[in-house]
Amino acid sequence: MIPVAFDYQKVKTVEEAITVLSKGDSKILAGGHSLLPAMKLRLSQPARLVDIAGIAALKGIKEEDGEIVIGAAVTHADIAGNKLIKYHVPFFAEAAEMIGDLQVRNFGTIGGSLAHADPAADWPALVLASDAAIEIQDGNGKRRIKASVFFKGLFATALQDNEIITAIRIPVPAEGTKTSYQKFAQPASRFAIVGCAVMRSADGKTNIAFTGLSENAFRDSKAENAVSGKPLNDDTIAAAANAAVNDVSVLEDHFASEAYRRHLAKVYLKKALKAVS
Ligand SMILES: Cc1cc2nc3c(=O)[nH]c(=O)nc-3n(C[C@H](O)[C@H](O)[C@H](O)COP(=O)(O)OP(=O)(O)OC[C@H]3O[C@@H](n4cnc5c(N)ncnc54)[C@H](O)[C@@H]3O)c2cc1C
Repeated sequence: MIPVAFDYQKVKTVEEAITVLSKGDSKILAGGHSLLPAMKLRLSQPARLVDIAGIAALKGIKEEDGEIVIGAAVTHADIAGNKLIKYHVPFFAEAAEMIGDLQVRNFGTIGGSLAHADPAADWPALVLASDAAIEIQDGNGKRRIKASVFFKGLFATALQDNEIITAIRIPVPAEGTKTSYQKFAQPASRFAIVGCAVMRSADGKTNIAFTGLSENAFRDSKAENAVSGKPLNDDTIAAAANAAVNDVSVLEDHFASEAYRRHLAKVYLKKALKAVS
């Protein structure tokens, strides 16, 4: 499979990337692990690729103003090995370890994954469960979109043309917060057939997000209500599993039927809740 001919431009700054994007018919190239396969299948045919992998401002993970800030061009492998991530939001490191294979983890970026919004991608569940914001820049400056309103459907986000994701900003969790990411992976690609991310603070407030189940990742408020502020035990965990994914339109494909995916969601939610109890 060969993509249609395209121009390629490597940029050094976010501003330069935005200028090139404003010429139109251009796509950002980050790790290339979702875009290039789509171009080879001719599902995507941009006239120009803007390579952002060399932009230093999009790299690095730091703590700033009460937030963990992950640059959009940070790779999955860098997240997996980062000490700040392991200390404050360890489920980001757990999830990163589970993505694809070594090559995918070394090239694929968190910003690229969020922009692509594959229904089976892992990061959407993590940014939802951690109440993160997606930082975005265009010619008019920067803005933030809460993860809760970022994902709009199958491969669809709130990102506008000519906008670039610059960072993911995660509020530093209070001391004593526990997290877990549990995934039933497609055996070849490792994409999530079902992924469940849970963040539970010491006072019992519990955030629960799923990926892989429907057109886009989502928070499950009914499951959250079943355990938030309550002790985690067999009864409350079973109540959360019973409440989970009941009102959701669940996808099916040749890997997993709708009923099997729904069942897996409840099983993987139980695993995640047990892990944070
Ligand atoms: C074999 C294989 C296995 C995989 N397994 C998994 C898995 O288990 N779990 C999982 O979650 N993912 C998996 N992936 C996907 C992988 O994580 C991709 O790397 C990721 O989804 C896209 O990131 P990227 O940096 O490669 O983006 P690219 O492919 O370069 O870009 C993807 C899209 O995002 C846009 N984009 C990129 N960066 C930005 C930005 N900063 N701002 C705005 N738009 C941007 C591009 O224009 C393009 O439309 C797998 C991929 C492969 C090939």
